[in-house]
Amino acid sequence: MARILIIGAGGVSQVAVHKCAQASDVFTDICLASRTLSKCDKIAAQLKRPIRTARVDADNVPQLVKLIKDFRPDVVLNVALPYQDLHIMDACLETGVHYVDTANYEPPDVAHFEYKWQWAYQERFKKKGILALLGSGFDPGVTNVYTAWALKKHFDTIETLDIIDANAGDHGQPFATNFNPEINIREVTAKGRYWEKGKWIETDPLSVKKTMDFPGGIGPKKIYLMFHEELESLTKNFAKKGLKRARFWMTFSDNYLKHLEVLRNVGMTRIDPVLYNGHEIVPLQFLKALLPDPASLGPLTKGKTCIGCKIKGTAKDGRKREYYIYNICSHEESYKEVQSQAISYTTGVPAMIGAMLVATGVWKGAGVFNMEDFDPEPFMKKLNQYGLPWTEVFLK
Ligand code: NDP
Repeated sequence: MARILIIGAGGVSQVAVHKCAQASDVFTDICLASRTLSKCDKIAAQLKRPIRTARVDADNVPQLVKLIKDFRPDVVLNVALPYQDLHIMDACLETGVHYVDTANYEPPDVAHFEYKWQWAYQERFKKKGILALLGSGFDPGVTNVYTAWALKKHFDTIETLDIIDANAGDHGQPFATNFNPEINIREVTAKGRYWEKGKWIETDPLSVKKTMDFPGGIGPKKIYLMFHEELESLTKNFAKKGLKRARFWMTFSDNYLKHLEVLRNVGMTRIDPVLYNGHEIVPLQFLKALLPDPASLGPLTKGKTCIGCKIKGTAKDGRKREYYIYNICSHEESYKEVQSQAISYTTGVPAMIGAMLVATGVWKGAGVFNMEDFDPEPFMKKLNQYGLPWTEVFLK
């Protein structure tokens, strides 16, 4: 029996709200609040049970505090944008309510994300006796839980970790991003970075690539090395358990990369303001306004995603082994169930599960936590139960 306040009414929220509404044995009361009330009402109208909706500017802490005091949630699920993380954490601190999100804080004026700003809340959350669960999406999120599961169930030491995210979907558009275009393009155009023997090694954006043969009928795809936020917490937490190298890879189609290269070359991915006809505009924000809304891709997208972790290490039987754990998610099936494509689905389901484990006290504590800090077992069970079943195989 829990009350949940969900903030943000975009693609990920659409799935998280549907999934919370399905879990009526746990989430007895749901409030969906965002900057644009009509988007909340549109999601609410798709549900089989009534929920409350509200307008809130999540950058305005007093407004958030007022809403939280009025609705009295057990947990706040932040599925707005990374820019709102700290404001929502401030409001949770003021009201004494648990906090869950799916992406780490990023300042709007620098394309740089890092946990340091959120980890800095550790003492304040501890003192208040509340919990912040960071990164409860798929990657970060499920990938952290997969790694913790591999160590708990199969390995004495994990030596190398490769997180691999494949989207083998096709939306038929010349160029579109599968989640918020601004966040997505900032991430993809940043320098790559991986961790080896205690050091970060930087690479030029998308300059390291190889081909991987994916399961589930997906087949061979080019994967590109990128930096991704879960590498920061996983290397910190697993270095002491023998980890020597951690990398993150993502697939991109040649067509996506061709468009991105041109947009970057002409300056359309810049995030600094430029003067146009006497007005300051940020080119990337202008580009976002021109690109298809990721939510509109739902009915158009066909194919599957495959996200997982390849791990090498010393198994519990003492042998050196290679292990792969992954989920395959169908864009069409996701749309049939919750009217969203698989990118939003694979994020919204773990967001709901994280909030559920916190609200019900299965994952408990006071302070700021990453996903791998908790017992992976209850989360792994719920992934199978709520639509993201996983497969594990030993490759060697
Ligand atoms: P969308 O752009 O589709 O949705 C964002 C929502 O947040 C919109 O409804 C937007 O409002 C709302 N919002 C933005 N600013 C404010 C504000 N100041 N106050 C209130 N509401 C606000 O994004 P997605 O759904 O694609 O992504 C949501 C989050 O999930 C992001 O943080 C993203 O980084 C993360 N993510 C995590 C993944 C993972 O695996 N961990 C994968 C994919 C995404 P409006 O409608 O008015 O614009």
